[in-house]
Amino acid sequence: MKCKFICPSCGAEYSTDEPIWRCNCGSYLDLDYNPVFDKTKLPEEKTLWRYSQVLPLDIKSAVSFNEGYTPLIKMNFWGMDVLGKLDFLMPSGSFKDRGAAIMISKCRELGIKEIVEDSSGNSACAISAYCAKAGIKANIYMPAVNSAGKTVQVRTYGAYLHLIEGNRIDCANAALEGATKSYYAAHAWNPYFLHGTKTVIYEILEQMNWQAPDYFFAPVGSGSQILGVYLGLKELASAGIIKRMPKLMAVQSEKCSPLKDYVNGKETPISSHNPSIAEGIAIHRPVRLKQIVEAVIKTGGDFVTVNDDTIVEALKASAAQGVYIEPTSASAVAALKQYANDLPADSKVVVALTGNGLKASAKIDGLIS
Ligand SMILES: *Cc1c(COP(=O)(O)O)cnc(C)c1O
Ligand SMILES: [Zn+2]
Repeated sequence: MKCKFICPSCGAEYSTDEPIWRCNCGSYLDLDYNPVFDKTKLPEEKTLWRYSQVLPLDIKSAVSFNEGYTPLIKMNFWGMDVLGKLDFLMPSGSFKDRGAAIMISKCRELGIKEIVEDSSGNSACAISAYCAKAGIKANIYMPAVNSAGKTVQVRTYGAYLHLIEGNRIDCANAALEGATKSYYAAHAWNPYFLHGTKTVIYEILEQMNWQAPDYFFAPVGSGSQILGVYLGLKELASAGIIKRMPKLMAVQSEKCSPLKDYVNGKETPISSHNPSIAEGIAIHRPVRLKQIVEAVIKTGGDFVTVNDDTIVEALKASAAQGVYIEPTSASAVAALKQYANDLPADSKVVVALTGNGLKASAKIDGLIS
């Protein structure tokens, strides 16, 4: 199905045959793409590509590791039964591979040879991996303070790493400068990325026999996961597969909570001093802030903030069940603690386990003793 870029701010439309990444008015772009999902037409293969009928690209250009269809397993946190979606088992170690798979496939379709991305870590790893597979040169801008594990991973994939002193905003600005010379394939901006991350909710629904969960807890930084999930849910609702939406529970660190701040009419102070251990969601100015807030509110969900001590407790509680996740990922588990006694007993709760602990072992070493 053919689609267009559409600007949610001024309504301008652009062809998706052009390598553009934002509107002339400065806003991010969305896709005008409304596929009708038919669950009777699913292929045998158990990868995210089984949902290609709702993916906005020519599947012939797919850059793929046969990824996806990650396990959804029973876990228990603070006495509450939940389902953990093990998306940290994706090829580069985080859910961001879903977005990178679709976005970099689209880049290949357009004949793009070189891209720019800025990241706190995992999206850079994901994009570097897919660029390596696609033969596209990746320029990655990262804050110099991040986990060594992730910079090594990016460099080893063969990406060109630009380490930037300062905070995430300095880093984004440096990337924008770089993007004047090649295509800015940024997870925070690119709508193809969201159509990739949406596959997680298709998988979850299918794994739950097409019954929607009541709650979906996820760590939120730029919102690429939660907005993808919301996109997928809207498609599943219009296909008549779900009757109501799960409540989207957007989890952030107490030290950086622009969603909650926005709802309370405050502007999040920018500081790189004393950052949260959940580095992957320390995004002070999410590009799609209002869109995230709207999605959460429309589902009747909530904005939850957690502190570092509870994140460490959550990380250990997960590892005690054999599931080794990184601190950013553990923030979603930490949020469950605040709800353990409040949710109706038979609630179906899914928690997104987004990032692999193996990337952050050096950091975790300093936290668990
Ligand atoms: C990036 C990331 C998040 C947050 O995802 P956004 O798309 O930025 O909201 C959560 N967990 C992990 C492990 C991540 O790498
Ligand atoms: Zn516009």
